[in-house]
Amino acid sequence: MELQGHIAVVTGAARGIGLGIARALAQRGAHVIALDRLTDELESAATELRALGTVETRTLDVSDLEAMDALIEDVRNRHGKIDILVNNAGISVKGENGRRIPFLQSTRQAWDQTMLINLTSVYEMCRRVVPDMVQRKYGRIINIASQAGRTRPEFADTAYAAAKAGVIGLTRSIAEEVSQYGITANCVAPGRIDTPMVRTAGTEANALYAQRIPARRIGTTSELAAAVTFLASPEASFISGTTIDVNGGYFMT
Ligand code: NAD
Repeated sequence: MELQGHIAVVTGAARGIGLGIARALAQRGAHVIALDRLTDELESAATELRALGTVETRTLDVSDLEAMDALIEDVRNRHGKIDILVNNAGISVKGENGRRIPFLQSTRQAWDQTMLINLTSVYEMCRRVVPDMVQRKYGRIINIASQAGRTRPEFADTAYAAAKAGVIGLTRSIAEEVSQYGITANCVAPGRIDTPMVRTAGTEANALYAQRIPARRIGTTSELAAAVTFLASPEASFISGTTIDVNGGYFMT
């Protein structure tokens, strides 16, 4: 229970990786504020999460800045602090055939939507949460990037790859400025992890992908969450501005 007394905010926590992270943080004793735009899925997740620890659920679309202001203000008023911020909410816009949209057929609309959810919302959440962390001289920021932002984006579309590379740059920039205040800012870059987002590709495509991963399988949300909970712990105090790859060896640095 090393995170007892820590307040953790997780975006996109109704399912997939975000739910795995909320679960793992709650199991380690953190008070988790699980956010998602999907109210019904969030409520189903809440039933499971509340059995593990102290968890609050709140509907938040991370592109709604007024709602984000109200949410952060409310958390600040009720808890007085946020120790851990996990920016996980993300989208991957697909074409009508369910596959990635090639650059040559890409649209400005899909680009803007992807940038807004996958990159700008991370900036906006950090802008609202980091000042109090600086005041308190403690904080753990973990941004969920992607293998697509780290190396050759074989399966991701242009906007997604650009946004995720942007998340890594944004995180390094924050780390550069705030590490002196006892705050760490890091990314976790998932490879192929079994979630609703990845299941849209189909079982066959995921099995083919798995054959090309040194581990010969795709990952689980709990394997991804393990890296996040480590970075969220007080012990990870000298790790800042880095990216942890969780990909079964698919991309090695
Ligand atoms: P998912 O689609 O299964 O879950 C994403 C969650 O984010 C959903 O609950 C969704 O409602 C929420 N969300 C989306 N837009 C939102 C918004 N505007 N406001 C609030 N919540 C919103 O996806 P996942 O696979 O669990 O992905 C989680 C994160 O991991 C994403 O940032 C994704 O880009 C990243 N990622 C996933 C993989 C993978 O293999 N699953 C690989 C690389 C990166």
